Amino acid sequence: MSSTVDTQVYVVEDEGDLLDLICRTFAQYDIGCQGFRLGKEACAAIKRQRPRICVVDLMLPDMDGMELVKDLAGHADTGVIVITGRAELSDRVLALEVGADDYIVKPFEPRELVARVRSLLRRIDQLTTAQQDLGNKLACFAGRVFDGNSLALRRPDDTVEMLSASEALLLSCFLRSPKRILSRDQLLDGDSVDCQSLDRSIDIRISRIRRKIEADPKDPQIIKTVYGAGYLFAAEVDWLEPVTH
Ligand code: CA
Repeated sequence: MSSTVDTQVYVVEDEGDLLDLICRTFAQYDIGCQGFRLGKEACAAIKRQRPRICVVDLMLPDMDGMELVKDLAGHADTGVIVITGRAELSDRVLALEVGADDYIVKPFEPRELVARVRSLLRRIDQLTTAQQDLGNKLACFAGRVFDGNSLALRRPDDTVEMLSASEALLLSCFLRSPKRILSRDQLLDGDSVDCQSLDRSIDIRISRIRRKIEADPKDPQIIKTVYGAGYLFAAEVDWLEPVTH
């Protein structure tokens, strides 16, 4: 399929006509794109070089797209958008829960996918800026340590959880403004594409972060819900310089 020098996006979609249309549309908008009709081909390409964003159809002939999403979610600097033809909302929610950043439902306008990709690229850029803001410092809160460079979160029992780009961006919003109520709008940071689905994905991202940072995610003590207002980061945050060798 088509490939440019600066490939930013991989698209994994077994319907050839749709894949061609998506790749042509990305080219029109100057987004470097490489298409794959098989999950295994995409996996091999991802091993060679990770794209900035991977668009994954959940229904692939050779593997479950969800497995690919799970693998990619371990890489914080790669965004994931899921294509689903399945009617059930549960697949989309599951995809977001295992680490996808956004989803799009068939049938869709390729231009809408372009808008989603651009929005996610902006979010990943924001993360880079947020990481630069965090500098080389470590954020310590409630016995946990978050490293904004590696996106690793060390828990009191010394286990380490990796955060996705979206999760880290959201957590860094809280770390910069502890003990303040942040509304969903503030957490969305002015991102206006399909507010409703992003609103929903904020709540899902928060529950994902809670599973990684809270002792009991069902009774959150660090990120508290303030009904009707938003969320509150209830822990003190201390910033430490990392130990250099
Ligand atoms: Ca398919």
